Amino acid sequence: METIALLLHLQDLDGRIRNLQSKIARKEEEIHHLRQVVETAQKDLESTKMALEKAKVALAHKELELKDTEEKLKTTKGKLYSGEITSSKELAQWEKSMEKLEATKNSLEEAVLLEMEKLELMQKTFQEKSQAVNTQREKAFQSIALMEEELKGWQENLEILKREREKIITQIDTNVISVYLDLNKKYTNPVVVLQDETCSGCHLSVPTTVAKSVRKQEELVRCPNCGRFLYRKTS
Ligand SMILES: [Zn+2]
Repeated sequence: METIALLLHLQDLDGRIRNLQSKIARKEEEIHHLRQVVETAQKDLESTKMALEKAKVALAHKELELKDTEEKLKTTKGKLYSGEITSSKELAQWEKSMEKLEATKNSLEEAVLLEMEKLELMQKTFQEKSQAVNTQREKAFQSIALMEEELKGWQENLEILKREREKIITQIDTNVISVYLDLNKKYTNPVVVLQDETCSGCHLSVPTTVAKSVRKQEELVRCPNCGRFLYRKTS
């Protein structure tokens, strides 16, 4: 195979490798993003659960307080109606503390009821959220598995292309290869067709002698302006 054909093959491989690499990078980014979405949802669910646990503790605390107040009230009532207290002043004091305890009991009962309602609502929210997150995670993991499968195929293809590239490189003169690799850093097309007398890389016309040389195709010719390898159109 003549050098220009090998260079064209190399350029084609490089283009395919570039495309595949960016496709792989995009897919990897997509997978990463999906994993993050799942993680964020999971964290949100966990904080909802923590709030729920906190509300449960608060309720238990209030219930305990209520029970304590009820006990005290019972004791106070017992004392008040026991007949032991005869002094009217003392009786009035006991009555007063009973009223106070009644008021505390009432407000605690109200608070417990409110907390219970709040807790019920939180529990419902948590269950709904939990279900949604589980469904979302399952779906995401399914997509990720599919994408990873796809990615694996692309990576295998990439390895094949890279091996082919290495093989082609060994078939080309090392000086030519080093020029090609330099051009490849600047351009995606180090090898271009000469259109009439114009380099289709930089779009400038080349001297007639250069154009002739390209047409003869006896030697490797480069554009005097941009340095790209030139080849004649064969149609
Ligand atoms: Zn040029």
